[in-house]
Amino acid sequence: MSDIPIELRDKLNETSEISALKILKCLTSETDGTRKYLFELSDGNTIESVFMKYKFGNSICVSSQAGCRMGCIFCASGKNGLSRNLTACEMIDQILKAQADTEEKIGHVVVMGTGEPFDNYENLSEFIKIINNEYGLNIGMRNITVSTCGIIPKIKCFSNDFPQVNLAISLHAPNDMVRKELLPVANKYPYGELISACREYTEITGRRITFEYTLIAGKNDAGKHADELAETLRGMLCHVNIIPMNHVSELPLGPCTKDKAEQFLKRLQKKGIPATIRRELGSDIEAACGQLRLAKPKSCCH
Ligand code: SAH
Repeated sequence: MSDIPIELRDKLNETSEISALKILKCLTSETDGTRKYLFELSDGNTIESVFMKYKFGNSICVSSQAGCRMGCIFCASGKNGLSRNLTACEMIDQILKAQADTEEKIGHVVVMGTGEPFDNYENLSEFIKIINNEYGLNIGMRNITVSTCGIIPKIKCFSNDFPQVNLAISLHAPNDMVRKELLPVANKYPYGELISACREYTEITGRRITFEYTLIAGKNDAGKHADELAETLRGMLCHVNIIPMNHVSELPLGPCTKDKAEQFLKRLQKKGIPATIRRELGSDIEAACGQLRLAKPKSCCH
């Protein structure tokens, strides 16, 4: 930009950078049209994002970190630890690149790709503000969902900072003992305190909170687990999203049967807890929950 003053150019050099994500690969699901992107960041790190088509419009699942340090035992994303936080721009660019590639507008955003968004709260906040802004992407706060493994202090900040944004909690257990076995973060944030922070969220925001509950055979899928969960959540403005565990090749854990998932659902519903079994998109291209990782996919369309 040789037509602007040198002082301004120096200032821009010091304070800003120009970079863009590069699409390394893209896989398209044959069953539902879901597209999984492998992007390269300017420093060579790679991340994945997933574009999904729903009746209500197009949605994207964005990553908030390259890798993850939470170490949930059933999830592929954290197997190699955390590489680094993404900047707000790198999060926004996942949406821009997917829109340009599909030539379709994206109206819904879920921050459920690799990474723990509340472990990168500052950049997440900037990301939400920019995509929500009318001069940004103009995506309504209510069309944005953030999912966390349960970092309590940030749940409190989020309730005040973004009361209109949907919050999902990866609960996956009805008590502290089961949760500690599955999510190391539970050692830092006790179950009871997590549930209290969630209740507080619903009181501050007046909004329903979503609990994600991945059913893992023999770990958290018994009738007694459903009963205990129903007891814990009684009276809370919430919804339980039951996710049959998705296959992660190197793990000895697996999904429970379809019947067992149905029984779990009915048991919760009978006790008055609103719940559904999540329809998984993109599992044929390893784009479903917990299947995103740093490793590169095998085949590609680009
Ligand atoms: N770090 C955030 C967002 C990432 S994962 C969080 O923990 O919420 C999005 C959801 O997929 C989480 O609920 C996560 O626990 C779940 N998940 C991870 N691995 C999975 C697997 N193998 N099968 C099904 N769901 C899984």
